[in-house]
Amino acid sequence: MKKRILLLAGGQSGEHEVSLMSARSVLAALPVDQFDVTPVVISKEGRWLPPTQTQHALESGVADSGGDLVLHRAASAEGYDAVFPILHGPMGEDGTVQGLLTLAGIPFVGSGVLGSAVSMDKVMTKQVLASAGIAQVAWRLAVRRDWHDRPDSVRQSAQELGFPLFVKPANLGSSVGISKVHGSDELDDALTLAFSLDRRVILEAMTAHKPREVEVGILGNDAPIASPVGELRFEADFYDYETKYTEGRATMHIPAPLPAEVAAQVRELALRAFRALDCAGLARVDFFYVEETGEVLLNEVNTMPGFTTTSMYPKLFEAAGLSYSDLVARLVELALERR
Ligand code: ATP
Ligand code: MG
Ligand code: MG
Ligand code: MG
Repeated sequence: MKKRILLLAGGQSGEHEVSLMSARSVLAALPVDQFDVTPVVISKEGRWLPPTQTQHALESGVADSGGDLVLHRAASAEGYDAVFPILHGPMGEDGTVQGLLTLAGIPFVGSGVLGSAVSMDKVMTKQVLASAGIAQVAWRLAVRRDWHDRPDSVRQSAQELGFPLFVKPANLGSSVGISKVHGSDELDDALTLAFSLDRRVILEAMTAHKPREVEVGILGNDAPIASPVGELRFEADFYDYETKYTEGRATMHIPAPLPAEVAAQVRELALRAFRALDCAGLARVDFFYVEETGEVLLNEVNTMPGFTTTSMYPKLFEAAGLSYSDLVARLVELALERR
């Protein structure tokens, strides 16, 4: 019997369009002899689109509006064997949709409520990983209320970390709302931008030198495996949105040319982080490797990483001998195994 899969894509976050790109790749790759896939696009307003509007959104690459209230449409998820929520960012990758599907009793690809929520929030991630003994950059949390009522206390946190530093919305992705702040004169604008997107903002010390950026894919539930290590190279000051999504701005190197012991350390740390955060199914764990000092610092864990055929995560497993369509099929298996 073919497995009936509901593919959720789009969503309310700044990564709506990225999600639709991933969804198109997954749709094209799921073996038709094994899977019967129904896509449902979620508009930027958070409403679930019926079939014709979904089709239109997949073709145009965006759904600004339309559709039904989630609680109405979610009932249509009943009858599917599994859901593949290929959603990035808040209201998708952060445990909200995972909670809905858990309540509905439908298996789904990827981490559950806990792993999704904790991994989405950069501050919670850092706290959990610190308690697991994993090295990271120094950081401070700031909440919107403090920025309004006591801005000097937030500026003080920045002074303590020193410049340059990074200011990031705690719950976002694709570098949306992230600024590299070179000096105190750039700080307020960066904070204003980040607080326009999130109640919680993280300030992060920059690595001692421009880091090499290496990433590992993790696949599995309670006995996860790590892919080879990949590296991203680019000319930009940091890996910002434009560099991520403009063709030709960044290159992927798999396997990353690293000393064997560094690659082994990165893979081991990625597995440890995956377990510490209670992730499931898949995650892409991103690191900074500071060549000058030999430091390996964990940057973040993405529980629903970019998933087009040319994205890092599928490419990492392809290098390990798992094709894109086999990878997708394996993820569905892992979702069913977790029931
Ligand atoms: P993703 O799209 O992978 O989910 P994101 O939006 O969660 O990304 P980060 O990975 O936290 O954002 O940061 C984006 C980029 O900013 C990094 O890839 C890196 O280039 C740069 N960067 C972020 N934090 C630091 C830091 N502390 N030191 C040096 N560079 C940093
Ligand atoms: Mg991220
Ligand atoms: Mg992300
Ligand atoms: Mg990142």
